[in-house]
Amino acid sequence: MREGVIVKALSGFYYVRTGEGLLECKARGRFRLDGASPLVGDRVQCSVDGQGRGRIDKLEERRNWFIRPPVANIDALVFVAANALPVTDPFLIDRVSVIAEDAGCELIICLNKTDLDRGEALRDIFTGAGFPVIQTSAETGEGIDALREALRGKISAFTGNSGVGKSSLLNRLLPGLDAPTAGISEKLGRGKHTTRHVELFSLGENSYIADTPGFASFEIEMMKRIPKEELQYDFRDFAPYIGRCRFPDCTHRQEPGCAVTEAVAAGQIARSRHASYLRLYEQSAQFKDWELK
Ligand code: GDP
Ligand code: ZN
Repeated sequence: MREGVIVKALSGFYYVRTGEGLLECKARGRFRLDGASPLVGDRVQCSVDGQGRGRIDKLEERRNWFIRPPVANIDALVFVAANALPVTDPFLIDRVSVIAEDAGCELIICLNKTDLDRGEALRDIFTGAGFPVIQTSAETGEGIDALREALRGKISAFTGNSGVGKSSLLNRLLPGLDAPTAGISEKLGRGKHTTRHVELFSLGENSYIADTPGFASFEIEMMKRIPKEELQYDFRDFAPYIGRCRFPDCTHRQEPGCAVTEAVAAGQIARSRHASYLRLYEQSAQFKDWELK
């Protein structure tokens, strides 16, 4: 029996990184029948037959899993943002922060293109809300070591709007990779939004980064699973105020005596965070019951 992590899935084969190197495996037939197909990121137990062919016998329990992109056990989502070419709308970060919170993974905000603009306002909003923020430049190399350090020992994935520098940062972290950056993928005629195979690249001992730059919006579908009443718990900066409103069923929108909106007025919660909450609350209220859970 060997233990490992699936780092790549291709035409029915799974490639498992084990202590003794990469093992090409087939899945046991039963996985396909019971719907629990292996995903990249899965921790597995494999056996090897006399011909050196591997077989996945067991999937360990997952921390989380996503359909778009298809990947499991993400420890950290890295939202890559920029404040120049393009300017990232904080709403996009807030939406992913809810998804990360719901999936039980860490959210790291990477403010890239610091050589053009340091994005101090975005930094203040998100450090204030309790998230780690790393300022980087794929151009000058600023912050790359700090980013690498933040990813140590984790399986992480990049997300963020197109053009912020996800591919460029991947190339900085993994110099041999040559992920196509904007200009090149256009030349290759490779659409930025086509579904691609996810692959985990090793960043050193027990650290992996998923190659998901094509996924500008990580699992937005997951938002549908969050009932509007529960959205408040996915805003970690609201936590000190929840339970302190006048009405026990306060939705923190415009009720009198709301501790959350008072904290916004007092500058303890960023206005943009609360505005995103309102926007997501309205969206969530539109989902039918059968769409939830
Ligand atoms: P992606 O769509 O998020 O993968 O973004 P890319 O990595 O393809 O980068 C988009 C464009 O921004 C490319 O022309 C990059 O050369 C450029 N770029 C990426 N990072 C930086 C940076 O830190 N500073 C500057 N000035 N340009 C960058
Ligand atoms: Zn309230």
